Amino acid sequence: MSSQALPNFTQEAQALFPEMIALRRDFHRYPEIGFQEHRTSRIIAQSLQELGLEVQTGVGQTGVVGLLTGANPGPVVLMRFDMDALPIQEGTRAEYASLNKGMMHACAHDGHMTMGLTLAKIMSKYRDQMAGTLKFIFQPAEEGLGGAFAMIADGVLENPTPDVAFAMHIWTPLELGTVQVTTGPAMAASSIFTLTIHGRGGHGAAPHEAVDPILAAGHIISALQSIVSRNVDPQESVVISLGQVQAGTTFNVIPEVVEIKGTVRSYSNEVHRMLYRRILEMARNLAAGFNCTVALETIAIVAAVVNSPEPTARVMEAAVQLVGAENVINKREMASEDMGYMLEEVPGCYFFIGGRNEAKGFNFPHHHPQFDFDERAMIHGVATMGTAVASYVLNGN
Ligand SMILES: [Zn+2]
Ligand SMILES: [Zn+2]
Repeated sequence: MSSQALPNFTQEAQALFPEMIALRRDFHRYPEIGFQEHRTSRIIAQSLQELGLEVQTGVGQTGVVGLLTGANPGPVVLMRFDMDALPIQEGTRAEYASLNKGMMHACAHDGHMTMGLTLAKIMSKYRDQMAGTLKFIFQPAEEGLGGAFAMIADGVLENPTPDVAFAMHIWTPLELGTVQVTTGPAMAASSIFTLTIHGRGGHGAAPHEAVDPILAAGHIISALQSIVSRNVDPQESVVISLGQVQAGTTFNVIPEVVEIKGTVRSYSNEVHRMLYRRILEMARNLAAGFNCTVALETIAIVAAVVNSPEPTARVMEAAVQLVGAENVINKREMASEDMGYMLEEVPGCYFFIGGRNEAKGFNFPHHHPQFDFDERAMIHGVATMGTAVASYVLNGN
């Protein structure tokens, strides 16, 4: 592969940067949460149509697909960009802060959509030289609502079936000017669970006549962490986190029930199943010791994001060329992403683009009310994905 003949995506993105900023800030002002991205998807569909792409709307409810078919046959390359905002009240003082009360683009999906439309714009100029098809997919409801699933169920991975798939995330834990990419598991399998512990309510002054689920819960909460340290191979990484514990109504009443909500993360689906088997065993047996019973309910399981070697090598090559080897970070994240479902079907690569700039106050974590990112990250994102994708459809590759 000779890279000289590929477009210079950094230059192309720099030339479009003012336009990108305007587009990103417009998305930012009007955030829409999962499956409600109506205005957002209208703008995307219209932009893709204006560029001459073949556009399909309503894929997985509010999703949009744009096909850019090259002059010659070749591989089908899927690029996925997520569209949804979060139910968060924006706390930044940016002049482009959210105008939709209680909703905010606090995960940079506004930047992702902008990069997707920019890539569509750049690549549409090269259509006559292209051998292959680019499938731009704009996905609703990435934030735990199953948008990827909805699009897959609606046939997004057929007609045409992609040969390779890419997605990226602007990431504020990473410095601007860096790219994080790794082969194999890149993000964790994730699930959430509700563990209910049933006892028998009673008076706080007569505990012997009740069965106290709070006492049982205390032991179970402590013991669950021993699964991480005693049942998991030390070479593996897993997390069991409890985020919500609810019980009781007042100080002198032993309640009937304690409800615990938590999340499990791992890089392998096999380990994931083992964790749940142990959570249930541990909770059931400890509860029995206190004469309590338990019920375990698990919901919204997301597969691990696993990158394939070949497409990942292309992203790495592009990143090294664009930001220098010293700025390419080889690391995985315990966060999760429903792109994992698509990468189960299609080999591909999911990577991260640094968006942090402490001097400008862009150092808040994702999903924080003051979250924002350095918009120049979008140039790196367009350049990295563009270069990787062009290596498949331009220049005889
Ligand atoms: Zn997010
Ligand atoms: Zn996100």
